[in-house]
Amino acid sequence: MINIALFGVPGAGKGTQAQLLKEHFNLCHISTGELIRQEIRGGTELGKKAKAIIDRGELLDDAIISDMFKSELKKNIGGNGFLFDGYPRTLKQAEIFDNMLKELGLKLDCMVEILLSEEESTKRILKRAEIEGRSDDNPETVKARFEEYRGKTAPIADHYKKLGLYKSVDGFGKIEDIQKKIVEIIETLR
Ligand code: AMP
Repeated sequence: MINIALFGVPGAGKGTQAQLLKEHFNLCHISTGELIRQEIRGGTELGKKAKAIIDRGELLDDAIISDMFKSELKKNIGGNGFLFDGYPRTLKQAEIFDNMLKELGLKLDCMVEILLSEEESTKRILKRAEIEGRSDDNPETVKARFEEYRGKTAPIADHYKKLGLYKSVDGFGKIEDIQKKIVEIIETLR
């Protein structure tokens, strides 16, 4: 079993890489952003509240997102492993996540950061907006998402560096080249 967390600024390519890696290693991909978008599409109470927050580019409540994440995680234990995408995203979530894994008898093997400048990722997000039409992929929301990232998410990298679980790849370049680099990292963990 191998458990990898993908990390990086919005638009760094976590979702794209997760899709490819999921197939390569036959892993279960859990994207908290996707879980929330499912709630929104389903028109649930949670989805309605979440939509306003997402559209402002802010992060959802740590406890709510962690409960959502945990139930998805528990449903999928028993496979080859997990690719975590978009969680944990705050230091509080990292603390909840670490305890959750311990409780469930799991461990994180590596956090892989896809490094990309805000300038380049903004370009990618605005391009994605034309294709996918995500309501949070517009210039104002993207700016707010970067602020949230800088203030609340980026500090997590240090936490996992201290635990010796952090690695990074350059996210600028061809999708398949970046994938190759992440595959190499994962191969060294097996
Ligand atoms: P993503 O698809 O990962 O870019 O996430 C889209 C949006 O969902 C984010 O901008 C947040 O508003 C929300 N979101 C996703 N994951 C989390 C998380 N772990 N904690 C809080 N909010 C989240």
